[in-house]
Amino acid sequence: MIVVMSPEATETQIEGVVKKIREYGCDTNISRGVERTIIGAIGDERSIDKELIDALPGVEQSMHIVKPYKIVAREWHKENSVIDIKGIKLGGNTIQVIGGPCSVETQQQMDDAAKFVKAAGCHLMRGGAFKPRTSPYAFQGKGVEGLEMFRKAADAQGLPIVTELMDIRMLDTFLEWDVDVIQIGTRSMQNFDLLKEVGRTRKPVILKRGMSATVSEWLMAAEYIAAGGNHNIIFCERGVRSFETYYRNMLDVTAIPVLKKETHFPVIVDPSHAGGKAWMVPALSRAAIAAGADGLLVEMHPKPCEAWCDADQALNPDELKNLMGEIKGIAQVLGRDI
Ligand code: PEP
Ligand code: MN
Repeated sequence: MIVVMSPEATETQIEGVVKKIREYGCDTNISRGVERTIIGAIGDERSIDKELIDALPGVEQSMHIVKPYKIVAREWHKENSVIDIKGIKLGGNTIQVIGGPCSVETQQQMDDAAKFVKAAGCHLMRGGAFKPRTSPYAFQGKGVEGLEMFRKAADAQGLPIVTELMDIRMLDTFLEWDVDVIQIGTRSMQNFDLLKEVGRTRKPVILKRGMSATVSEWLMAAEYIAAGGNHNIIFCERGVRSFETYYRNMLDVTAIPVLKKETHFPVIVDPSHAGGKAWMVPALSRAAIAAGADGLLVEMHPKPCEAWCDADQALNPDELKNLMGEIKGIAQVLGRDI
């Protein structure tokens, strides 16, 4: 950390800052210029409270030098982390497409969906048993019964399952049903207690970006999971809130190279919740893969017009198959497999 003192700062005020930095266990280096004195903190400066330093008399401004996140930072872990999901590798050379319905509805719907997901060439399946709905009167998901239907349908096709956890109290149930990947939804990205709990497990976690979260807040949320010892993290960009009303969210393609630079963990994209319309999904998917995403989380439904949730954005089985073909070409140009 660097602390810039104001031109009028007195010797006593400079000493006060030095004393405070030492209380945090850091050494100091004082550089006296013609107009200003600058104090450098040497050591693990992450624990120093910037707001507290800024509030000290005589301080003009202070800034941290090292990144606030540690375990998730590429700075400390140069190689890509590849997440192993029952033998399926995410974050390596192969681009993984996770397909499935928004929500688990019936056994028949899940059995059909699993067959189509598998036939399209996807290696993982998604489906929500617990749904975070804007209205309390909307379908809230089938709950534990949904996990059971999902497990049965996916097991028949040998597909690992991805499903959203909203409530800490359901974590043990998720572990009992051997959910392969725990999804943390956009509305829960900063539910720190939930992040800490999934951090105690070793289950792969898809951490969706909060709908108004900065990249830095997103990385810090991941750090909560990593700090508990769970280093099986997958970031998912799903679009952010914007001024535009034509589409559901604005897919932040820029976040893909930024995250790939800042973290060693895989980055996937959910084009379905970004566009909010099935016809936008292929274009957004192509953009995501071209920008360096390691995979996609795509909503599909055996019969989209009968979907109980997010019908407008669900691909039909043929569209999912076509999507796989389209992104294959882009993957090849990048030297990646699918
Ligand atoms: C979902 O994937 O079904 C979902 C609810 O997504 P998000 O949290 O991105 O809105
Ligand atoms: Mn959905």
